[in-house]
Amino acid sequence: MNIHEYQGKALLKEFGAPVSRGVAIFSAEEAEAAAKELGGPLWVVKSQIHAGGRGKGKFKEADAGEKGGVRLAKSIDEVKEFASQMLGKTLVTVQTGEDGKQVNRLYIEDGSDIEKEFYLSALVDRATGRVAFVVSTEGGMDIEQVAHDTPEKIHTITVDPATGAMPHHGRAVAKALGLSGDLAKQANDLTIKLYNAFVSKDMEMLEINPLIVTTDGKLRCLDAKVSFDSNALYRHPDVQELRDLTEEDAKEIEASKYDLAYIALDGTIGCMVNGAGLAMATLDIIKLYGEEPANFLDVGGGASEEKVTAAFKIITADPNVKGILVNIFGGIMKCDVIARGVIAAVKAVGLQVPLVVRLEGTNVEEGKQIIRESGLNVIPADDLDDAAQKIVSAVRGG
Ligand code: GDP
Ligand code: MG
Repeated sequence: MNIHEYQGKALLKEFGAPVSRGVAIFSAEEAEAAAKELGGPLWVVKSQIHAGGRGKGKFKEADAGEKGGVRLAKSIDEVKEFASQMLGKTLVTVQTGEDGKQVNRLYIEDGSDIEKEFYLSALVDRATGRVAFVVSTEGGMDIEQVAHDTPEKIHTITVDPATGAMPHHGRAVAKALGLSGDLAKQANDLTIKLYNAFVSKDMEMLEINPLIVTTDGKLRCLDAKVSFDSNALYRHPDVQELRDLTEEDAKEIEASKYDLAYIALDGTIGCMVNGAGLAMATLDIIKLYGEEPANFLDVGGGASEEKVTAAFKIITADPNVKGILVNIFGGIMKCDVIARGVIAAVKAVGLQVPLVVRLEGTNVEEGKQIIRESGLNVIPADDLDDAAQKIVSAVRGG
C-alpha cells in the first residue's frame, strides 16, 4: 500500500527525522491560510499523487500552467495562483502512464535553500533477506539512470536484523555520501531513525529523493515515497487510515475485499488461476502464444464459491478483457467449487467474451460435468498448452 508524500513525512517526523514544515490542502481556498501559516519567504506547492517524477511532470490541461507538479512560489499570491492552477488537473509523469493522475490534494511546504541533493532509500533486499539502505550522491534525478550509467555511484548498506541499525551503518551511509563532521553525525542519526520507522511500520520501501543538505548545513528529507507491506497492515490501523482509495485501481480494491491476489495488467486475456506459480506460468504461456494477459489473479488454495464468483466478476468488469482463461489445478482447491463459482458469476453478470476452462486435479470430473450441464458456451481445454492456444485463437476471432 502506498501513501502520499505529506503522510509519509508526518510519519517520518514521528520518528524524529528532519522534514520541512508543511500543510496539506484539498481546495484552492485553503492555500492562502496555509501559506500564511508557513510564513515564507519561499514556499513549495507540491501535487500529491501516488507517483514520482512530479517536478518534471506535465499537466494535460492548458490552464494548469507550465511549471510541472512541484513549484517554488515566492509570494502568497503565487502559492494561491499555483494551487488554483493545479488542483483538479491531470498530471502526467514518467510514473503515471499516459493517462496521468488527477491532483486532488496539494502539500504546501516551507521552501528550503538547497546546497546538495542526495538519494537515500531503504528496502527489503530479498537476496540477503535484510533491510538495505541504498544511497547515492546523485540525488534529485532519476536513480534508474544513475544505476545504469554510473553503478559505482550507488552504495548498498545492509542491516542485520539481529542488531538493527547501529552507528557503523550510519557511518557507512555518511561515508557513501561523502559527509564528515556534523553532517556525518546527522546522517548517522537519520539512518537509525529511518531504520526504526521502516521496521516498526512494516514498510516495503522508503525513498527519500532528494535528501538534501541545506545552505545552513542541515540534512533534510525533501521528498518521501513510502509503501507498506500489505500483509502486515492488520498490525497498523493508523497506517490503514492513510489509504487513499482514489489513487488505487478500482478492480484491485474490489479484489482486496475478497482477499484475492489481483494485479491489473494491460493485455486482453483475463486469467483466473489458483496458486501464484501457476498464475505466473499462465501469463508466460499467453505471451508465448502472442497475446497479453489482462491481469494476474491467484484465487488461492481454499477459495469459496463466493470468492470465485467475485474474482470472475472483477475480470469481466474490465473493458479490455476480450477473452477469459480459467486455469485451475485442483489440490486443496476443488474443481467443482471453481465450476460452480464460474457458473454463478456468469449467471449474475453474463458472458460477452469467449471463455476457456482448463480443470485438472481434485473432483475434476464433477467440475467438468457441472460446466457441460450448465449450457454455457465454454470452450474446454485439456492442458495448459491447449488452453493457451484456444484462448489466443478465440480472442483473435478464430
Ligand atoms: P518528485 O519530482 O515527484 O520527485 O518531487 P520532489 O519532492 O522530489 O521535488 C522535485 C524537485 O523540486 C526536487 O528534486 C527539488 O529540486 C525541487 N524542490 C522541492 N522542494 C524544494 C525546496 O524546498 N526548495 C527548493 N529550492 N527546491 C525544491
Ligand atoms: Mg523526488
